[in-house]
Amino acid sequence: MRKNIIIYGVFLFFILTGVTACTKSQGPIEKESQISFLAMDTSISLMAYGKDAEIALKKAQEQIQGLEKRWSVTDEESEIYKINHSDGKEVEVSKETAEILAFALQMAKQTEGALEPSIYPVVSAWGFTTEEKRVPLKEELADLLMYVGYKKIQLSDNSVQLEKGMQLDLGAVGKGYAGDKAVEVLKKCGITSALLDIGGNIQILGTKPDGENWNIGVRSPFYGDILGIIELSDCAVITSGNYERYFADKDGIIYGHIINPQTGYPVENDLASVTIIASQGKQCDALSTALFVMGLDKAIEYWRKNDGFEAILVTKEQGLYITEGIKEKFTLKQAYDYLKVYEVNR
Ligand code: ADP
Ligand code: MG
Repeated sequence: MRKNIIIYGVFLFFILTGVTACTKSQGPIEKESQISFLAMDTSISLMAYGKDAEIALKKAQEQIQGLEKRWSVTDEESEIYKINHSDGKEVEVSKETAEILAFALQMAKQTEGALEPSIYPVVSAWGFTTEEKRVPLKEELADLLMYVGYKKIQLSDNSVQLEKGMQLDLGAVGKGYAGDKAVEVLKKCGITSALLDIGGNIQILGTKPDGENWNIGVRSPFYGDILGIIELSDCAVITSGNYERYFADKDGIIYGHIINPQTGYPVENDLASVTIIASQGKQCDALSTALFVMGLDKAIEYWRKNDGFEAILVTKEQGLYITEGIKEKFTLKQAYDYLKVYEVNR
């Protein structure tokens, strides 16, 4: 009886003082920490919960910056720079670089070259990694395409060898892969709830601290705003399109940074954007780029043949194609209710 009175008294204390933090199923609301910085040619913002979150985020930042140092195409100290200037010789690389390259090669094969990790000579000719964007001549692109082809990349254990003139570009998978590594660091530090925004690539660890799913905004290809919201936990959401990084020539023609490896020209098809949802960032990043290259029909066909991910494909003709596994979790924003929504089934 006495015990009951004490419990009741404590309960009353919480009500009277407005202390309600212990009412959620996951225990007390944990301290939120946040860190923002520039890396991998984009702005990055990491948020995590828990008493050790601040230290953990610092470590995640160091991890991302370390990977950037290895994979930058412009930093002369980077491993990718060394490979790209190896003149056909074999180069020893770190475990991480060998790992991401192996993954990129596997995805290049699986997407039949839509993802092309040796696209750099072409990307560079367009000036996408510099301030001097330009439209190369058709002949120049045809010549450069002779140096493009993932099948000619030799990778064994930790050594990489390219044919003379070939150059790698991990831009289509690097941020997703770095996100996975950052999540690993956070997990090792005991973090169970975090949200990472790596230049618009979203990577989430666990649920929100109160046990609810995160509400993740899907980027719209039309006005750079949010197309809709998906309720998710423990996964990555990554969008690709030619709406963000591009330039216009003197006639106002727009050239985007995702290249069709068959032609050497920026992708020009029926798609405006591709969003991929999967457990790992590297997979989302590789597939968002590759499915954007494929165009609507081939992208849908690819999804039907391959498990483990969901997709939202937006067409230039105002269609929104959403795969069955994610449909129930997605809410379209009112501003976009004019889009025609199609469910994609297996
Ligand atoms: P973002 O970097 O804006 O998130 P992506 O993940 O789609 O976009 O990657 C695009 C980058 O990948 C380009 O800037 C370029 O460096 C490189 N790239 C362009 N076309 C291809 C391609 N077909 N395959 C692989 N990498 C590509
Ligand atoms: Mg990508």
